[in-house]
Amino acid sequence: MWLPYRIVTPLASASVFLSIAWILTLTLVAVRRGDRSARLFLLAWSMFLVGTCMFAALAFGLLSRSFLTEYGVQIGSALEMLLLSIALSYRYAVLRNENERIVRRAKLQLESQVLERTSELRTALEQLETAHARLREASRHDPLTGLYNRGWFRERFEALLEAARSQGQPLSLLMVDLDHFKSINDQHGHLVGDDCLRRCARVIEGILRTHGALVARYGGEEFIAALPGIDVFHARELAEEICTRLREEPIRTRGPGVTVTASIGVHAVDTGLGHEAAATDLALQVVDNALYAAKSGGRDQVRVAGG
Ligand code: GH3
Ligand code: MG
Ligand code: MG
Repeated sequence: MWLPYRIVTPLASASVFLSIAWILTLTLVAVRRGDRSARLFLLAWSMFLVGTCMFAALAFGLLSRSFLTEYGVQIGSALEMLLLSIALSYRYAVLRNENERIVRRAKLQLESQVLERTSELRTALEQLETAHARLREASRHDPLTGLYNRGWFRERFEALLEAARSQGQPLSLLMVDLDHFKSINDQHGHLVGDDCLRRCARVIEGILRTHGALVARYGGEEFIAALPGIDVFHARELAEEICTRLREEPIRTRGPGVTVTASIGVHAVDTGLGHEAAATDLALQVVDNALYAAKSGGRDQVRVAGG
């Protein structure tokens, strides 16, 4: 704006030539790197340069006047714009493809993560289910003997009672109490006592299992068994068999062999009574009385309720 025209004009012309050379150099570098849009840019830029050169050649009298030389700059610019538009749409397509690829990859990644998490969750649920089942099973058993415990016996007994009533089948009940067990503990120690309890449980279970009995540890040294479909006479025979087996086979423990005897009460449950819980209470009371009679009759014997 302030410098004289004759100084500025050569400077401006020189900077134009420098810029052209610089742009060409950068473009050629990009083409060599394999940039496809740089090729289009080079072509477009060349169109403009050729058009401008033709116009300059006309101005300096190097070319004769024609439509092409006179409108060289405009034709070159138009071709440049056309080619740059093509380059732009190409670039747009490339970016859109790239974008779609990124979205697709992110979607796949997300899907695989969701699948992974779902399978982890399923495994955790299965483990929880297994632990729950194990816990439920453990809550039904007595840890020392492995027999069912009193709570689960009662629950199952009520169901057996209902089934026996609806099918018109007999249902017998056995209550077993080991004799003088306190003195066995006192004499041999509690660990030997525990061995005896385990062994007695196996004997009772072994004799009754084949008859479909529900056997449980009722208390400290007391066991209970429900025998569905078995009448009181048969139940008494089985009780006698338990007494005989215990009496005749001393238990081999971690200490000396110990002879354990048992008193057993037997009861033919009255399945005609209405309410299961009340009928269960009554049956337990009656079989307990029969057991008490066996104890007071001298122990190591079987007594049938009302017999
Ligand atoms: P009775 O012939 O009158 O039944 O006499 P008893 O000594 O068997 O009966 P009592 O009720 O006086 O004693 C029961 C004993 O059973 C006392 C207790 O130490 C023992 N006992 C209960 N549970 C266990 C147990 O889990 N392990 C051991 N080793 N002993 C137990
Ligand atoms: Mg007892
Ligand atoms: Mg006892």
